[in-house]
Amino acid sequence: MTGNSHDTVSGDFGLSIEEPLIFEQDSPGALGVDWPEADIGADRLGGLARSGPVGLPSLAEPTVVRHYTRLSQKNYGIDTGLFPLGSCTMKHNPRLNERMARLPGFADIHPLQPESTVQGALALCREVQRWLSVLTGMPGVALTPGAGAHGELCGMMAIRAALDAGGAANADRQRVLVPDSAHGTNPATAAALGFEVVSIPEDGRGRVDPERFEALAGEGGVAAVMLTNPNTCGVFENDIRRIADAVHAAGGYFYCDGANFNAIVGRVRPGDLGVDAMHINLHKTFSTPHGGGGPGSGPVVFSDALAPYAPVPRIVEEAGVLRLEEANGEAFGRMKAFHGQMGMFVRALAYMMSHGADGLRQVSGDAVLNANYLLRKLEDVYSAPFAHSGPAMHEALFDDRSLRDTGASTLDIAKAMIDEGLHPMTVYFPLVVHGAMLVEPTETETRASLDRFIAIMRGLAERAKNGAPLAEAPYHAPRRRLDETQAARKPVLRWQAEG
Ligand SMILES: *Cc1c(COP(=O)(O)O)cnc(C)c1O
Repeated sequence: MTGNSHDTVSGDFGLSIEEPLIFEQDSPGALGVDWPEADIGADRLGGLARSGPVGLPSLAEPTVVRHYTRLSQKNYGIDTGLFPLGSCTMKHNPRLNERMARLPGFADIHPLQPESTVQGALALCREVQRWLSVLTGMPGVALTPGAGAHGELCGMMAIRAALDAGGAANADRQRVLVPDSAHGTNPATAAALGFEVVSIPEDGRGRVDPERFEALAGEGGVAAVMLTNPNTCGVFENDIRRIADAVHAAGGYFYCDGANFNAIVGRVRPGDLGVDAMHINLHKTFSTPHGGGGPGSGPVVFSDALAPYAPVPRIVEEAGVLRLEEANGEAFGRMKAFHGQMGMFVRALAYMMSHGADGLRQVSGDAVLNANYLLRKLEDVYSAPFAHSGPAMHEALFDDRSLRDTGASTLDIAKAMIDEGLHPMTVYFPLVVHGAMLVEPTETETRASLDRFIAIMRGLAERAKNGAPLAEAPYHAPRRRLDETQAARKPVLRWQAEG
């Protein structure tokens, strides 16, 4: 069933064209280039000359061009429309950043070049560190981590190193307290480092209950707390100072997941809240693009207490010359080869400098305003579990209570959004909320685009209420409902020739 308002001869619809794999388009004999006859005597290959065909598809040049152009058009990106994925901060990436990152002095350098030839690039890295340090009120900055999750690993490895430096006294500090509303990377990081993860329940306001926290911290053996602020319920942990004091009194460290820094940049300095280590997702707060798994960039800022344990390399200045210090007594080691994602540093600095301090403050103000606008305009049709605990921060969280008698689910709404030309919001996360829908508009959406989003979401709620068949949406996508679990668990990554 296509569900389209009318069927087409081809079965394709508008620009939604079925595109077979390039191997399936193989047309033996077709060729986009004229190869000269190869004239390598077989004897020069010592009998290793290939005896059969290479197994690459044969295609005419226009076929190849169309194939990749069509594939590129199947992407939904921030340049195509509003990208409401909560917790991901999908904001517009200004073209100025791209222009700067392509300057040959940044784009064409090699990590093995002598330091004397890349003084400008090192100075740029230092400037990024300076901005991050000023914005967070934290003195140490490690630039190398390649993503937020990698930054968490870096911060927790520094905490581990600091605990180890404390010797036997810290031997049984193995517990890491993690709210159950945390991003999955938090407990995963703690577990990967061999810590014991202790879950802290949400208190009904979408926050950590400070008394419960103090009790847990008082039980001893605490290595650290990993807290996201603003958290993944989209609210500010307003007892954060109490939480910081409790974990410090218990002899542990405070790791803050700073992926949501977009909501507070220019207004709150995490260092003032008692944070010891925090990663910053340049690809969220500072507008560098999210890649398909990379390149992201997740620098980590450190308090005075943890800065000595930060990884190498460190950029140091001696007699006006910058160099990379590769060894340092207390550093726990390094996070990756070389020096980090240079292109991301350039983009982030271009973004920070073009906004300036006042502009960055406005970023968080507008991000929070946009999220609250959506929350207030939708909360009468989509139930909002924490609307009673004060204004949202940068994201608006809904649950599926309002869909209960409609027969439609959170998933159905998300799939119906695809037919409307929207990327779905984050669904079923955070886990503490049933049928969660987490919407993050970011500051870069205009009032008009927010109003369009609101109109669509209200319309879908209306349709669900009237019993529209949403359970088979999307109707207008080349693929309908996928077995996403199978796709994630058993991805088919290789094309197999039939027979
Ligand atoms: C995005 C995010 C992360 C992980 O960042 P990556 O760059 O995707 O590794 C961690 N915590 C929170 C709250 C996030 O939103």
